[in-house]
Amino acid sequence: MAEDTLFDKILRKDISADIVHEDDDVLAFRDINPQAPTHVLVIPKQKLESFADLAEADPEAVGRYMGAVARVARQLGLEERGYRIVFNTGPEAQQSVQYIHAHILGGRQLTWPPG
Ligand code: 5GP
Repeated sequence: MAEDTLFDKILRKDISADIVHEDDDVLAFRDINPQAPTHVLVIPKQKLESFADLAEADPEAVGRYMGAVARVARQLGLEERGYRIVFNTGPEAQQSVQYIHAHILGGRQLTWPPG
């Protein structure tokens, strides 16, 4: 059985978070340790452990998730200046919470390559 992660607890409201958006499909909340002026995490309510699981996921659910990420970025006012979406996936990417989450990063000049 999948581990009960921090983000499961945030989704159940067992742990508080600064929620910026919630609908039937996703929950979006501010990262506790922001790496940019705007740093928001978006999780699907239907749990997957990592981005890799999208390979087998229902394409409609994947589409709803991705659309929601884009709408949250728009709602945050990031569209004009630009933003970055990051899915840390697995150990070498230093995924620390085993519940898929899109990082939305924006509000400053981002550099490339990432670390
Ligand atoms: P990962 O490293 O797995 O890609 O991202 C996990 C993110 O969760 C990190 O950016 C980290 O700062 C964030 N995080 C860890 N603990 C908490 C918490 O209790 N609340 C919130 N809102 N974010 C957290």
